[in-house]
Amino acid sequence: MAKLWHRRLAGGITGETPVPQKPWSLINPKDQAWGCSSFMDNMQTEWIDLGRRSGLKVHRVSIGSMRLPKVEDEAVRLMRQAIDAGMTYIDTSRGYGDSEIKVGRSLKDGYREKVILSTKWSPWLQKVERSDEPTADCTYKRILESMARLDVDTLDFYQVWNIDSEEHYQQAIAKGGMLDGIRRAMNEGLVKHTGFTTHDSPENISRYIDEADWCEVILFTYNVMNQTYKEVVAKAHEKGIGTIVMNPVGGGILAEGSPVMAKALGHDRLAETAHRYLAGDANVDTILCGMSRPSDITSTLENYAKPPMTSKERGAVEEVAAKLSKANMGFCTGCKYCMPCPQGLDIPGIMHIVYLDRLLQCPETARFQYGWVANPREHNTAGDCTECGECEPKCTQKLDIMEQMKYAAKRLDAGE
Ligand code: SF4
Ligand code: SF4
Repeated sequence: MAKLWHRRLAGGITGETPVPQKPWSLINPKDQAWGCSSFMDNMQTEWIDLGRRSGLKVHRVSIGSMRLPKVEDEAVRLMRQAIDAGMTYIDTSRGYGDSEIKVGRSLKDGYREKVILSTKWSPWLQKVERSDEPTADCTYKRILESMARLDVDTLDFYQVWNIDSEEHYQQAIAKGGMLDGIRRAMNEGLVKHTGFTTHDSPENISRYIDEADWCEVILFTYNVMNQTYKEVVAKAHEKGIGTIVMNPVGGGILAEGSPVMAKALGHDRLAETAHRYLAGDANVDTILCGMSRPSDITSTLENYAKPPMTSKERGAVEEVAAKLSKANMGFCTGCKYCMPCPQGLDIPGIMHIVYLDRLLQCPETARFQYGWVANPREHNTAGDCTECGECEPKCTQKLDIMEQMKYAAKRLDAGE
């Protein structure tokens, strides 16, 4: 029987051609370098409700597939290692390069039935075609396209990707908006559940949580270094919405091992601290483990096998994190008052990268995250700052933004 997405694409929905499947080699499960450790063999999986609304259960640790290895066979092995270890919720996106393709291939040979597969898209973050808009038709077309890329008949979740402002939210829920496209796919049995991801203000998110009875899960950033969403995570949990946390190790800061953070905590077990911190928050249903290598899986699961932090321990590390950010206050707060930049630079985004590199001394993470906010093809890198001076008078922290752009250009554009 032809795949549902194939029949619908053939039925007149135009768009990017689905990526054809290449043959790929079977994985040898006895491969020592990739085989599960005895730790994993002995692991007892604890199943957690992914909120009350979805009716699904997940492992405390889920699969983040944004940073899968470049080599496809390695990516497939890594995905299967995670699934074999009991991690079942998979987060991918139309916007994560070839992630959907790699995830799709890892789900052959009976793996599809073992997982909860979630993908997402929005035109705010990625226009696949220039004409892309947050409409029902466009969203429906992107759903079919993701299904084709993943080579599956159904998606467990399709999420609105990054509701970052009231305007995005209103566009998503408007008649004929993104949500209507997802609902069409749900009515046709192509998608089972929905929700959204966000970096919006806690005040806005709190309002969305009150209104959005359609929302079954929300994906938030939350970690020991950034507790901005702690209260809204709790509110979502209380309303029965599944709470999924991205960037549990601060987008890599704690995994890289910031010497500044290590000094403040008095030890260098930063990733363990980050994981035990989140494990100690009962409002967090599951975290995304961003996977690039086998040790990302084993170390996260090992940390999650340790006792979660007590509320007293959590309070103590929160105090350390607060002192650290206070010591670095006077740096960018991400308020966005300096925006927009006539050159299209994401000023708060680049300032955050400078913070990682300069103040937290995490150059690898800074370099990695710089790719998220600056693109030479779009001429919005730090080096594209023309020093027009429009931003500085608007900066609430009176920062020397132009100097920081020069620093970022030297360190990251020039790669010094
Ligand atoms: S000085 Fe640079 S960063 Fe600031 S608004 Fe002008 S171009 Fe943008
Ligand atoms: S106004 Fe200043 S503090 Fe606010 S985002 Fe811009 S650079 Fe950062």
